[in-house]
Amino acid sequence: MTQDNVEPIEVDVVIDGGWIVTVDPERRIFRDGFVAIDGTKIVAVGQRADLAHQYRGRRTVDGRNKVTIPGMSNGHRHLLCCAKGAMPEGGTTLQALRSFIYPSFSRLTEEDMHTYALHATAEMIRFGTTSFQEPGCNHLEAVLEAIAASGMRCRTGPWTWDQAGSAGDADLPNWLRFTAPEAVKRLEWGVETVRKFNNPRIRDAVTIEGVGTCSDELTVAAANLAVEADSLMVLHKSTSEREVALEQQAFGHRPIEHMHKIGALNDRVFMNHVTSVADWEVRLIADSGARISKNPSTALKLAKGTTQFGKWPELLAAGVPVMLGTDAENCSNHQDITRAIYLAALLPRDARQDPNAVSAEQAVEMGTINGSRALGWDDVVGGIEVGKEADITIFEAEDFDWRPLHNPIANLVYGATGHSVHTVLIAGEVVLDNKQLTRVDEQSLREEVEAIDRRVLKEIGIDPVPAWPVL
Ligand SMILES: [Zn+2]
Repeated sequence: MTQDNVEPIEVDVVIDGGWIVTVDPERRIFRDGFVAIDGTKIVAVGQRADLAHQYRGRRTVDGRNKVTIPGMSNGHRHLLCCAKGAMPEGGTTLQALRSFIYPSFSRLTEEDMHTYALHATAEMIRFGTTSFQEPGCNHLEAVLEAIAASGMRCRTGPWTWDQAGSAGDADLPNWLRFTAPEAVKRLEWGVETVRKFNNPRIRDAVTIEGVGTCSDELTVAAANLAVEADSLMVLHKSTSEREVALEQQAFGHRPIEHMHKIGALNDRVFMNHVTSVADWEVRLIADSGARISKNPSTALKLAKGTTQFGKWPELLAAGVPVMLGTDAENCSNHQDITRAIYLAALLPRDARQDPNAVSAEQAVEMGTINGSRALGWDDVVGGIEVGKEADITIFEAEDFDWRPLHNPIANLVYGATGHSVHTVLIAGEVVLDNKQLTRVDEQSLREEVEAIDRRVLKEIGIDPVPAWPVL
């Protein structure tokens, strides 16, 4: 039988033509590639010339003049939200948290949380993100409903602290205030609640706040629970030199060193920010197997010192799974991982005056494959590979940011933003189609979010106006 006589296999979706940056174990890139997806999984990837006659899609995505990459991951995206652009300028991390962010969080009802979560996930999908870590929310059940409605892949758990950490409890709201034993019960309840929800795209996390708001008792118990429950313990850690100074004063150790000393650093620990690290702490992190989300746009806006103290090249060289995040809406006022990739490639170069400090390819790995590893989803998702679930982001490459197009990695890292994301698939499902969200009504969601913002700002007494006269 000749090739021409073979009936093509019918599959759900094919991506036909264009650049396919697989980020598979060999890091293959196809200039004129083809991907076949059936159900939730990738069943073929390779040269278009070899595969196009073998598969017929019930749906065909035209990949020409486009660049297809694995879906991007966001390591740090709160679903407890606050009004974007309304946070007073000029605060340090600790000031911003205690004067604006925590008070905003404490005002949110169950309905608010559902709406904010739907909006935040919609924004992430629009900019090409398919999976994310939510570092602790309130009204967990409502949030789970919203994540399921979005179609995104996520790890989440309940906002948990005992307000008994190195930063003291001054200015902390009287909100979700637990003793350490109560907080541990809440964490256990969170794991059970996510598991009972039983959605294949949502996994649990043991989420404590950190940043000097949790006792050692709670931190150790959370790290142990993550191991026992086969989950991830997620916390904010070593977020600035100021936090380092506080912990040194309280314990005589730096934050990560302290985690190690108390037995709370293990391979189930997922640390956000890690913007201030000593050389020996890099070794402690690597030896423990812990994971990290670096959040460069937040670090820059809140002046955390990531360029000077972040040890980006050393953490990567030590093999630590470092992924990228954006954080809440006033820490980084966008949710665009391509912008995080840009910063991840460039900030360490300038800091070290070394153009090889972080390569363009390493930056793309941080935005994609490292995310599946760090989030503990690499059993299911990863690169564009046969057998993996189809979490895929497709950029339109017809504007100045992508053209001329000779090297898609260079254009992706240095030129593109998430505005050029055209199509997004999660587990084989098209959730963004020609820049339109398929599951939610963007406009009505925006209006609902702005109404919640206005109410909360009024309640916490913030009038968000620019420094210039508004007429
Ligand atoms: Zn955060």
